[in-house]
Parts: sequence; structure tokens; C-alpha cells
Amino acid sequence: QSRLSERVKAIKESPTIAISTKAKQMKADGHNVIGFGAGEPDFDTPDHIKYAAIKALVSGNTKYTPADGMVELKDAIIHKFKRDNNLTYTRSNITVNVGAKHTLFNIYMALLNPGDEIIIPAPYWVSYPDMALICGATPVIVETEEADNFCMTPAQLEKAITPKTKAVVINSPSNPTGSGYSKDALKALADVIVKHDILCISDEIYEKLVYDGFESYSIASLGDEIRQRTIVVNGLSKEWAMTGWRIGYAAANETLIKAIANIQSQSTTNPTSFAQDGAIAALMGPQELIKPLVSAFDERRKYIVDRFNAIPGISCLRPQGAFYCFPNISALFGKTSKQGMLIKDSSDFAEYLISEALVAVVPGIAFGAEGFMRLSYAMGMPAIMEGLDRIEKAVRDLQ
Ligand code: PLP
Repeated sequence: QSRLSERVKAIKESPTIAISTKAKQMKADGHNVIGFGAGEPDFDTPDHIKYAAIKALVSGNTKYTPADGMVELKDAIIHKFKRDNNLTYTRSNITVNVGAKHTLFNIYMALLNPGDEIIIPAPYWVSYPDMALICGATPVIVETEEADNFCMTPAQLEKAITPKTKAVVINSPSNPTGSGYSKDALKALADVIVKHDILCISDEIYEKLVYDGFESYSIASLGDEIRQRTIVVNGLSKEWAMTGWRIGYAAANETLIKAIANIQSQSTTNPTSFAQDGAIAALMGPQELIKPLVSAFDERRKYIVDRFNAIPGISCLRPQGAFYCFPNISALFGKTSKQGMLIKDSSDFAEYLISEALVAVVPGIAFGAEGFMRLSYAMGMPAIMEGLDRIEKAVRDLQ
């Protein structure tokens, strides 16, 4: 322990990965656990993507590629940004990395000095603050309100900015809340970002998983000044069910992209060659193939939110995107289980659910938001129904 670096001592295991590992272990031990913890779609990667990778393997694309991605993939990403976001980039603006998580890690490494501040709205995706800690930078957490649909207001952003602020992270639609920023809300944030001349890291990995007619916008598309200050992050994992392929990407100014290529050339060398061919097929192939996935998520979302709102002591906003819901459980705190366990906070409640109801959820505190829990609905309807039955019973059992 004493030989470990200060850097690594500052961070913890990703709590979401820890919970899904625990649920998998319990299942392997023969327990009938329903896991709402996983952040990955339960669908399979579409066949045309798999065949593109197989073809690449067979035809010999099994060697090193350029450090920050094959030219053909960069061109496909440029095409995607034009088609989906009306953003124009050249190859020197694009980097390809080993998943969007790695893209973000590279961006942080390239931008953050010890002592720099990075503004992160809470509830946040678990890795945003810990990656900053790895870099010795300070995550400045802005607590958003449920009443604001968990969106950071321009006033909150402005208040958090100091001379040490390097960047702000925006994630719309969001993991863990599923909340999305409207175009107007993004424009208002963009004005503050431009006024104070800070950078914006915009994580748009859930942009295609949206419901009730919600429209995702890239903040970078809302004017030249904000585009120059924005690093747009995206990836294939979520909408194409490609979590294991590990391909993510970003668009930004040439200087940052070159810096990221240097980091990558000294670390992973390049993203896996034939996985990049799969990514090209996903980006250039028929886009309507994600429709069934989106409608399946939508059906589950409606069901789960309605069920939660019918349970006394729980309330749940209707998320605009992603595949998570983030119910408010604070009214349950202070209650006691039949076994005599006092529920004081979201961690206690998650512990109660896994031990007494065999249901795995992630406590809100893992995302910087006490009083809530996150459930992923990336599983079939029968399991969701059974899981909600168990949660409802567990809540009714509390006194
Ligand atoms: N960003 C957000 C908000 C996420 O939820 C995730 C995955 O959980 C990622 C980035 C990273 O995705 P990947 O590294 O699989 O591309």
C-alpha cells in the first residue's frame, strides 16, 4: 500500500462497476439477483458491424494503426458529425480512443494540471471526478436540483467559475439521471462558457437514446465561439451495443488532438485495428437499425417510471434519454426493515435491496446525489417487472 502512488490512492473503484460485479458474483453463487446496476445495453451488436470486423480480421487488418485512429474511421466520424450534429471538422480535429471513457481520460491528461479546477454538475457520471483526481486537479461539484430536471443553470455555472477553472463537463442526456438539456438551456450555458473563456467537455454518448420527442443538440453546434472551446466526446458503446469493442472518439481543436495522439502513442499505441472497422460500419451503415433498441428502452422507461411513482415514498422524474432512471427515495430514510435495519441513506437502501430483495441498484451517493438511486433499464421486461415487484414489496415492508 505504502508503495502506491498518491495519484492512485486518491481514487476508488468505479462504484457502478463494483455493484454489477457483486450482482454477477451473487448470481454465479446461485442467488436469483436482478441487477439494475449495469450501464450497458442488453442487446447484441448488429450483425453488419460484426461482419465488418470479421472481414477486417480475415483480410489482414491485424496490425498497428495510426495512434489516434485509422484515416477511414476519422472520415466516418467526420461524416457522422456533419450528418447528425451539423458540425464540420477535418481529420486533424478527430481522435479515436479505446472507448469514450479513455477519450475522456486522454482529454483530462492533456488539459489538467495539478491545482486546476474542473466543474462537474452532480449527479455526475462516476468517472468525471475521479479522473480529475488522477490528474491532481480539483473537481468542483455543482449540485443541481431535481426541480431543475437535474440541469445546471447558467447562474450555478457562473458562480462555480474561478481563475483556476479550466473546463466544465456537460453530459446530455445524462448518466445517471437521463435528463437532457434543451437547446435553449445549452445556449445559455454556452454564453457563460464563452464569456469566461473556459473549455467545455461535452459528453454526448447518449445523444441517440432519446424519448418523448426530445431533441439532443451538441453544444458545439450553437455558434463558432462555443465550438472553438468545446471538445465533443462520443462513442459506439451505447447506441450500437458495442461496450466490449472499446471505441470512443472526440472532436476538438488541432492542438489538443495532437496532444492526445502523443499521449496515446505513449500508452495504448492505438485502438484495436479490427474494432475500428466495426466502428466504420456502425457510423456509415443504416442508422435506422437503432430504432428497435430505442423503442424497447422507451417502453421499459415508461413502465418503470410509472411503477415507481405508484410506490408510496418514492417519486421519479421521467427521463428524456439514456437508459437510466433516478428515483427520489429520501422519504424512506429513517424507516426500519423487518430485520431491524435502519435506512439512513441511499447506501443503506441499496444494501437493504440487495440483501433482502435480491435487487441490485446503485446508491445516489455514488453519483454525488444523496437521496436517490440509479436503475439501469437495460434488461428485458420480465426481469424489470419482477424487479419492481420486489422493490415495491421491500418498500412496503419498511416501518
Ligand atoms: N460517458 C458516459 C456518460 C457513460 O455513461 C459511459 C459509460 O458508461 C461512458 C462515457 C464511457 O463509455 P465507453 O467507454 O464504453 O465508450
